[in-house]
Amino acid sequence: MAATEEYDLVVVGHGAAGLAAAVTYAEAREGARIAVLERAPREERGGATRWTGAFLRVAEDRTLDPDWTKRMQRVSAGLADDQYCRLLERETPTTMRFIEERGVKLLFDQFPFAHTLVGGPPAMRPAGRPDGGGKAIVEALSRILEGRSGVDLLYQTEAVRLTISEDGAVDGLMARGPDGLLRRLGARDVVLACGGFEGSSEMLSRYVGPKACDLRLIAPGVRNNRGDGLRMVTEIGGDTAGQFDMIHAEAVDTRTSAADAVIYGFAAGIFVNGNADRFFDEGRDTWDNTFEHIGFEIWRHQNQEAYWIADAKTLAVPGVEHSLLSDVPPERADTIGDLAAKLGIDSEALEKTVAGFNAACGSQEFDVHRLDGKSTIGVTPPKSNWATPLDTPPFIGIPLTSAITFTYGGVRTDLAARVVTPGDVTIPHLYAAGELTGLYYHEYPPGTSVLRSLTFGRLAAEHAAAHA
Ligand SMILES: Cc1cc2nc3c(=O)[nH]c(=O)nc-3n(C[C@H](O)[C@H](O)[C@H](O)COP(=O)(O)OP(=O)(O)OC[C@H]3O[C@@H](n4cnc5c(N)ncnc54)[C@H](O)[C@@H]3O)c2cc1C
Repeated sequence: MAATEEYDLVVVGHGAAGLAAAVTYAEAREGARIAVLERAPREERGGATRWTGAFLRVAEDRTLDPDWTKRMQRVSAGLADDQYCRLLERETPTTMRFIEERGVKLLFDQFPFAHTLVGGPPAMRPAGRPDGGGKAIVEALSRILEGRSGVDLLYQTEAVRLTISEDGAVDGLMARGPDGLLRRLGARDVVLACGGFEGSSEMLSRYVGPKACDLRLIAPGVRNNRGDGLRMVTEIGGDTAGQFDMIHAEAVDTRTSAADAVIYGFAAGIFVNGNADRFFDEGRDTWDNTFEHIGFEIWRHQNQEAYWIADAKTLAVPGVEHSLLSDVPPERADTIGDLAAKLGIDSEALEKTVAGFNAACGSQEFDVHRLDGKSTIGVTPPKSNWATPLDTPPFIGIPLTSAITFTYGGVRTDLAARVVTPGDVTIPHLYAAGELTGLYYHEYPPGTSVLRSLTFGRLAAEHAAAHA
């Protein structure tokens, strides 16, 4: 085994959480010795963060959606850590300043369809995202670390297990480098920020259940998130949090292997399965509150096969192209039968489903900019809003399958991001942040994963630096 190298801080993971931790620590302690481990080669660095558009549940004044903490309690039935959520809310303006002051430009986009991302009733207000998506965060924070004296960015280097001193405090970890050899990195503090277990088919099957192997990965970067952080923490007695049998899944275009080929602009259409039957109340709520459930349903109950069907009314929504993220345009046809043929599903069955749906649409005003209450009458499942007939060619359709974005279950921490045991004591010198930490139950109110990764990565390093 190669000789031990000694660091003040070892960070595992080169995504939002790990980079926020490393930059915060480097700036707080000039000359500190820091190692950042990344399983991927340099050109693929950045995990999930590199591939996300990084929608942030943040309004133009840089505050978090004021309804988010209440929503987290409601959807999780009180299981989500309320103190963590409230702290995230308080820290959001500082996190926004943290990335903006380090070169990340924020954009505030008007979505084409009503959403609840910035609080209040479903609305069309702009919500934030970094110009250049998550990759802009990865590049801006990596630049600060690159070439900085005392900082080693170790690519193709995997953390294998934590090392602990005789009294049980974490004092470093074992890592395997590109030469295949193990070496020990000694550290005063370790921050684990190595993502969830979406990249491990074995762990997905263990926790999420049967058919997990059928889930596509939403982007190449997530394949490196293989549950190592969760394993390393539980091996030394750390606790867990979050719902282990639930995932954040999204419906993506089957015709492309491009990352993040998600369909958000579905308000005016319907979803059908491989038998051309509807299976979901497409107008149950705004897109941000339903897209995950549609993805999950396609995977769990529809054999990974579904089709989104709409008509010219969707194409007429200004900016709709920003809500259909696939790099392949929808299939188009002048009749529903021809569209079915193009999609490879039974024409008669689709015509029958669409005719039944059209006949059930009420006469209220149709408006995708709010929950318009225009619901179907007498079809199962109902469509509770935006139930407008599909009667205006061209008809459009996209074949869909479900892709996993991240896992809900992870490590439990306190508010300083210190890993805790089931007995609520902290494991000395061990921190965890980002997707590795468990938070969500039942539903993911979106636009908060990058935000919490940045925030708790930063808080972990602030605490470690203050106690060094
Ligand atoms: C396509 C896509 C779209 C998304 N859209 C949004 C969105 O709009 N808004 C939002 O908030 N969130 C979104 N998310 C989720 C969000 O991007 C992630 O949850 C967040 O970026 C996670 O950050 P992280 O730092 O915790 O993990 P990651 O960014 O995944 O970083 C984990 C790092 O750990 C490394 N690693 C793993 N194991 C080891 C090991 N043993 N040793 C060394 N390194 C290791 C990985 O290679 C990676 O560099 C999206 C994700 C994807 C993929």
